[in-house]
Amino acid sequence: MSNLDIPGLIAQYPLLQNLISLDEVFWVNPILETFEKGMEKAPLTKEDIRDAEDRLNRFAPYIATVFPETQATAGMIESPIVKIPSMKQYLEQEDQVPIEGELWLKCDSHLPISGSIKARGGIYEVLKHAEDLALKNGLLKLEDDYSMLDSEKFRAFFSQYSIAVGSTGNLGLSIGIISAKLGFNVTVHMSADAKQWKKELLRSKNVNVIEYEADYSKAVEEGRIQAEADPNCYFIDDENSRDLFLGYAVAASRLKRQLEELAVMVDENHPLFVYLPCGVGGGPGGVAFGLKQLFGNHVHCFFAEPTHSPCMLLGLVTGLHDKISVQDIGIDNCTDADGLAVGRPSGFVGKTLGPFLSGSYTVSDEHLYQLLKELVDQEQIRLEPSALAGMAGPLLLLKKGSDYIRKYNLKEKMKNASHIVWATGGSMVPQEILEVYYEKGLEISQKMQ
Ligand SMILES: *Cc1c(COP(=O)(O)O)cnc(C)c1O
Repeated sequence: MSNLDIPGLIAQYPLLQNLISLDEVFWVNPILETFEKGMEKAPLTKEDIRDAEDRLNRFAPYIATVFPETQATAGMIESPIVKIPSMKQYLEQEDQVPIEGELWLKCDSHLPISGSIKARGGIYEVLKHAEDLALKNGLLKLEDDYSMLDSEKFRAFFSQYSIAVGSTGNLGLSIGIISAKLGFNVTVHMSADAKQWKKELLRSKNVNVIEYEADYSKAVEEGRIQAEADPNCYFIDDENSRDLFLGYAVAASRLKRQLEELAVMVDENHPLFVYLPCGVGGGPGGVAFGLKQLFGNHVHCFFAEPTHSPCMLLGLVTGLHDKISVQDIGIDNCTDADGLAVGRPSGFVGKTLGPFLSGSYTVSDEHLYQLLKELVDQEQIRLEPSALAGMAGPLLLLKKGSDYIRKYNLKEKMKNASHIVWATGGSMVPQEILEVYYEKGLEISQKMQ
C-alpha cells in the first residue's frame, strides 16, 4: 500500500499515537505565520475571490428565477448567523469553564438549494463551467441578464455536455441539483457511506447516481477515470479544485457584512475565532482563506475532524499532506459524520492553508451526537452530525489552547472575542432521520450520567 515509515513518523510526531488511539486531540499549528508573510507564498489572492464573487452576482438573476427560495436574497445563496446563548450556557456548565466572548452559529446548514456548505463551492464551480462554455460558444456576454439561461435554448446547449463528481453525499447533492437544472448530463459517484435518501433525491432530479462499496477516495478515482474517457465531460475534482475553493471563500465577504450589520467588531482588540468542520478540506479551507484576506491576523481559524477520520490533521502534522492517509496509520475512516468521512486530505488545501491555520482538533462521534441533541434542546436547531464538529472548538481552545492564547497575546482580549461555530449541514435531512440522530444523542447523554 504505502512505503511510509510509520514507526519512524510516530517517533517523530508523538501526536500520531493519540490519533491512532482515537483520542480527542487539540493541535496548535507550529507553522502559522503572520498574514502578510503567509501571503508571500499563497497561490491565490483576494482578487481571485472577488472575481468569484462577481461571477456569483452575474448569476444571481438566474438563481432567483430557477430557485424561488432565493428570491428574498435576490438570488444570493447565503445563510443566517445567529447567537446561541443557551447553548453557550450549557457548554459552560457542563465543563465548568466560562466561555469568554459571544458564541455564534453560522447556519450553512440552512443554505438554500442544497442545505450544506457545498451549496457554496459546488454550485459555484458548475456555474463557472457553464459560463465558460456559453461565453466560448458565443451564446452569452458578461453584461447579459443571466436569467436568459433559464430557457430551452440553453438547456439544449448544456445537454451536449456532462459533469461528473465523486462524493460522500453533500457535494453530490449540490453539483447534481444545479447541473441538472442547467441542463447538463450529470453523474454522481457515491461512496458506500452516502445516505440512501440523498441517492433517491438525486435520482428524482434526473441525476445519474453510481454507487460504490468503497470509501470517498475510491468514488472520486472512479469518477475521474470515467470522465477522462469523455472529452465533453467535466470532472469536478473535490481533492484539488481551485474553483471549489474560491466558491467557498466568497463566504468571507458575506460574513463580514453580516457582522457589520450586527455591530460585531473584529480588530486588534476583538479577536474572531472560527471553528470549521473539515473533510477533504476545500470547504473549511476556502472559508478560512477568505476570512484571512479580510481580517488578517485578527481571525483565528481552527479545523475540526472526527476521531476516526483525522486526515487533514495527519497531513498537516507530518507535512505529508495527500501522501498519507488515515488508513496508513491503522485508522478505519468510519464515522457517522457524512461529509467528514475522508481518509486522505487535499494536498492543495493543506499546503495553501499551512501558513494561515491556527490549529485543528478531533471530536468523537459520541460527542457529536451529544452536542447535536443539546443544540436541539437548547436552541431548537437541528443539524446533521458533521455540523456539530465546530461546537467542541471554543471549550477545547480554552481548556487545551492556553499556549496559543499566550503566544498570540490574546488573554486580555478574550472577553471581547466572537466565536463562530460553522454549522455545515442539516436542513435537507428528512425529519425521521433527524429524529434518529436526536435519539442517539439522548441515549449517549443518558449513558454518560
Ligand atoms: C463536505 C462537508 C464538510 C467539509 O467540507 P470539505 O470540503 O470536504 O472539507 C463539512 N460538513 C459537511 C456537512 C459537509 O458536507
